[in-house]
Amino acid sequence: MAKGIWIVVEQSKLEIRKVSLELLSQGRIIADKTGEPLVAVILGKGVAELAGEVIPYGADKVILVDNEKLADYTTGAYTSVLNQLIRKEEPQAVLLGNTAVGKDLAPRLAQRLGVGMASDCTGIEIDDASFLSFKRPIYGGKAFAEVVSEVRPVLATIRPNTFPLAQPDASRQAEVVTETAAIDPEDLRAIVKEIAIATSQRPELIEANIIISGGRGMKGPENYCILEACADVLGAAVGASRAAVDAGWIEQKFQVGQTGKTVSPTLYIACGISGAIQHLAGMGSSKVIVAINKDPEANIFNLADYSIVGDLFEIIPLLTEEFKKL
Ligand code: FAD
Repeated sequence: MAKGIWIVVEQSKLEIRKVSLELLSQGRIIADKTGEPLVAVILGKGVAELAGEVIPYGADKVILVDNEKLADYTTGAYTSVLNQLIRKEEPQAVLLGNTAVGKDLAPRLAQRLGVGMASDCTGIEIDDASFLSFKRPIYGGKAFAEVVSEVRPVLATIRPNTFPLAQPDASRQAEVVTETAAIDPEDLRAIVKEIAIATSQRPELIEANIIISGGRGMKGPENYCILEACADVLGAAVGASRAAVDAGWIEQKFQVGQTGKTVSPTLYIACGISGAIQHLAGMGSSKVIVAINKDPEANIFNLADYSIVGDLFEIIPLLTEEFKKL
């Protein structure tokens, strides 16, 4: 009996993350191929209004758990509620975004359910028996592993920007079910008292379509303004190498790489970055890579789709002026 492909929809202050809509879009394709229903699961407070936002992306059914204690994400409460729902409904697969929340939640859930999981996946395959397997980069992106689970549900986190957004269909209808779940005091050992949101007009690094990153070649913090000017014209996020972060030129939250964020934008522009394996591990799956470096032997050029050999202080302002004309 079909039990469903579940997408755990991530929301914060009733705003759905783009990666969840990407997963629903891909989930629809998987559901059509496997004959499984596509189920969106939304936890939070006052989440009923979000059902209408996920149905157009392909959900056959929406499960809502609306509870004051789920207003803000906490590991204990969210793990407990999802564990109860999954045990009750027994879905075939549960997919989450590889975000801070997804990375926190999925392994704990896997442990509670006694199943394995695949993390930071960049591909999903479906075999003839409708079994899902997952592709994930290993060895800093040098190779790919195929992860196959023999137990159900299969659990996986998927890298943001891996799958394109579907064209939403506003006429789509779906069943909406409100479930209740027990939340014990034991599940609420951590309580969120306040969330301080950093204000920025730029997109968040892991979900950005375009990223322009600066490395040690930027020479100092005062020069990041040329990257920012370019980012603002492109509607891009700004990133950095660890060398720039370690030098104190830019905050750690902007670091891309093995010990920073993993990104997969449509366009990644690397400026004054040599292309160390640890940096490539975080951005190697970008769709198009442009590198600007004055060293023609820089390793980043081995991965780049477009290589610009030259001084970034001349090239970035020129590019910014050209982008303004688009
Ligand atoms: P460099 O390697 O010094 O390169 C600077 C580049 O700028 C050079 O190629 C140079 O030719 C070019 N340049 C200089 N001036 C100009 C100019 N005017 N115009 C154009 N080009 C110019 N690194 C990360 O980035 N992310 C990580 O998450 C990360 N994690 C790590 C984890 C571990 C365990 C370890 C050991 C290292 C990690 N590193 C990480 C560090 C990594 O090994 C490199 O040291 C780092 O990526 C180098 O940063 P960079 O390319 O900015 O600097």
